[in-house]
Amino acid sequence: ESTINKIAAGEVIERPASVVKELIENSIDAHATDVRVEIGGYGTKSMLIVDNGIGMSHTDASIAFKKHATSKINRIEDLDSILTMGFRGEALASIASVAKVELVTRQESELEGTKVVVDSSGIRSITSAGTAVGTSILVNDLFYSTPARKKYLKSARTEIAHIVDVVSRNCLAHPDVSFTLIIDGKVTLRSPSSVKMLDSIVHLYGADVARSLVPLEYDSDLISISGYISKPELTRSGKDLQVFLINGRPIFSKQLSNAVRLGYYTLLPKGRYPAAFLNFTINPVNVDVNVHPAKREVRLSHEKEISVMIVSAVEKALARDSL
Ligand code: ADP
Ligand code: MG
Repeated sequence: ESTINKIAAGEVIERPASVVKELIENSIDAHATDVRVEIGGYGTKSMLIVDNGIGMSHTDASIAFKKHATSKINRIEDLDSILTMGFRGEALASIASVAKVELVTRQESELEGTKVVVDSSGIRSITSAGTAVGTSILVNDLFYSTPARKKYLKSARTEIAHIVDVVSRNCLAHPDVSFTLIIDGKVTLRSPSSVKMLDSIVHLYGADVARSLVPLEYDSDLISISGYISKPELTRSGKDLQVFLINGRPIFSKQLSNAVRLGYYTLLPKGRYPAAFLNFTINPVNVDVNVHPAKREVRLSHEKEISVMIVSAVEKALARDSL
């Protein structure tokens, strides 16, 4: 069975924020320390992601939009120990099938960069281009080739909220990377690099949330956790105030969210979710990231034990605070 077949293909691009997510992850994988995201017309008009990462060679750039072109995985065994963000070689191909894309990239070892223009009918041109080391990807007219999908988009406000959410989660996940988010010419977020998680939370989620937080630390053979959870007094609620990072990857997990909630027992009114910004370090062997096409969900081995550990970590964090 080939690696390609083992990797379930699926819908990766649901909305503008999915593009931003995939391109940011590529920039991170390329060791960028500076990532700029510029959005026009809530992402459907234009999205530009510019990074200062390692860039692509002329050859790599020429094949980057082919389905299952990935430089990150060679053997099926690699799937069990994935540490890079991307690995399916699906994102660029998927984006180019629903938008008009211009890639400009250069590696340090090459004097000239490469520009690739591609859209839903394939590669339009590959030319040389002068450019700084790194990669910039411009995505125009998202879903121009799939008008039905465009109709499913929500309001501009909602789509922008999704984009802000993706960038915020990545700011927390990669504190040593500086992110800038510009929406319709206005700087919406700017995370300086090397800030503390708490400073980022103030900036991204507001001082009221940051003030309500207590530290949470937990260590066992199976898992270590560090970060912050809110005191029960915080009245703001919602899953958008929960950021879970597993081995540096922002993920959504009902299991983790439920376990955190459970640690509060009756301290929170029914239906209210606490804020939680938590880093989980788990042996990658115990994390299956190949569950969801957009890699948003993970499956954990030792689910029960991990849930029990989280509940007790939350209890301890809250109890320590009320001493
Ligand atoms: P994946 O990330 O799963 O490998 P993608 O379709 O997202 O697949 O990207 C395809 C390939 O293009 C990557 O494996 C990488 O080699 C290259 N690439 C994409 N984006 C960048 C970037 N910002 N900087 C350097 N290389 C990139
Ligand atoms: Mg990728």
